[in-house]
Amino acid sequence: MRRANAFLAKEHRLLIDGNWAAAASGKTFEVKNPSNGAVISSVAEGSTMDVDRAAKAARRAFDSGPWSRMAPSERARLMRRLAELIEVNAQELAIIETMDNGKPFKMTLAENVRSAAEKFDYYSGWATKLRGETMEVSHNTHAFTLREAIGVAGLIIPWNVPLQSAAGKLAPALAAGCTAVLKPAEQTPLSALRLGELVLEAGFPEGVINIVTGFGHDAGAAIVDHPSIDKISFTGSTATGKKIICAATGTLKRVTLELGGKSPVIVFPDADVEQAVSGTATGVFRNSGQVCAAGTRLFVHRKVYDEVLEGVIERAKALKVGPGLEPGVDMGPLISDVQHAKVLGYVGAGLRDGASAAVGGNSIEGPGYFVEPTILTGTTENMSVRREEIFGPILCAVSFDEEDLDGIAAQANDTTYGLSARIYTRDISTALKMSRKVKAGSVRVNGGGIDINVPFGGYKQSGWGREGGLEGIENFTELKSVIVKL
Ligand code: NAD
Repeated sequence: MRRANAFLAKEHRLLIDGNWAAAASGKTFEVKNPSNGAVISSVAEGSTMDVDRAAKAARRAFDSGPWSRMAPSERARLMRRLAELIEVNAQELAIIETMDNGKPFKMTLAENVRSAAEKFDYYSGWATKLRGETMEVSHNTHAFTLREAIGVAGLIIPWNVPLQSAAGKLAPALAAGCTAVLKPAEQTPLSALRLGELVLEAGFPEGVINIVTGFGHDAGAAIVDHPSIDKISFTGSTATGKKIICAATGTLKRVTLELGGKSPVIVFPDADVEQAVSGTATGVFRNSGQVCAAGTRLFVHRKVYDEVLEGVIERAKALKVGPGLEPGVDMGPLISDVQHAKVLGYVGAGLRDGASAAVGGNSIEGPGYFVEPTILTGTTENMSVRREEIFGPILCAVSFDEEDLDGIAAQANDTTYGLSARIYTRDISTALKMSRKVKAGSVRVNGGGIDINVPFGGYKQSGWGREGGLEGIENFTELKSVIVKL
């Protein structure tokens, strides 16, 4: 706690070209703890001029080669060193993240910080394994491909899993040989800045990793516009993703997008009910529902509907909601007053339109931005609670009678999103047939989890491209063909 407090008390600057620099404007902005609304720190407010300095530093570091021309095994060694430093400083990082984001400390420590270290460790392995191929062409020609780093990567991330997101973008970019300009979300810039200190401690060359804190319309937009940046890897809302695509047309940057979701959970009558209840509750209430892949539309066969609903209600009631640093807390606050008002606005609209709250539905009194874990019944497919991403602990539960898989898939697919889906059944044929019918980037059967070795991303308006696995690093490369006349 002492080390985390000392970090929060610092004057936080931008990491540009290996040095900590104040914003060119001299401006700073406050960072709040969503558990109580208190200001815990202030950070530099980077804008266009700062992004310009950071992008040029990253360009120099890429073009002059201290990173892109470094032996892949040496790049891998530095990445593993960074992973070790994250592990060594895990307690401090977890406290910083919990104070900044509000989520339970046990989750930040055991899941988010560990996952951040794992990402550098995992992608350090890919650094030495990228390869091209040779092609059989005519007898007097030799043709082959080279996998080359794309150049400077602009990495823009949201606030729901800040350190994990920063690592999830930096790790594949660095492994591919790219240099980077990272912009954390304005709500949660702190863990990325602590990561920046560890980057310097690990000994990364100057300019390889640059971190610009600031707002999306300013620093974020400047990254998308900058001519020295070759690729944007963005995670955030679908609305911002669309703006980024439009803005990137000026330079035709490569763009990958990890966007929102409104993911279905489908429970068949032969499911293991306990497994379905547990997976559904965790899937929607974890991180206060601020998870892109949260299962927010629950479709349950009528035969087991009451049992499943009752089970998820019991889970919701048993959750201890409170500040993330309080012992035993299962669910923290929402990220901000804005998000709090937005989530309650959706619930209010649903109730006015005729839905009922089987549990929850209210704000929780206190200084922080807390809402009750909520389950709505009686929703219809045209209500905003059923159609739009809420990004809060709100579940819409619906029963179905059909035995016909196409009918069930039609309900599950009745959304503009396509990020994730969960299926519960003991019948392997039902599971595999349904997995093909659901339009989602990831389908999890009977509680299967996300793994860094497995690609993750969205169908439809949930995104472009995939993160994780080989696909995740290939996104930071260009494929060059070389044809030699012999
Ligand atoms: P957001 O789109 O408002 O902001 C995300 C980031 O984009 C922030 O850093 C912000 O400063 C920046 N930004 C905002 N406007 C910008 C612009 N015009 N140009 C460039 N950058 C800009 O999203 P949010 O509300 O902070 O995050 C929640 C959203 O993120 C949800 O929709 C959620 O589903 C999504 N998300 C998706 C995934 C995934 O992997 N698919 C993971 C986590 C979160």
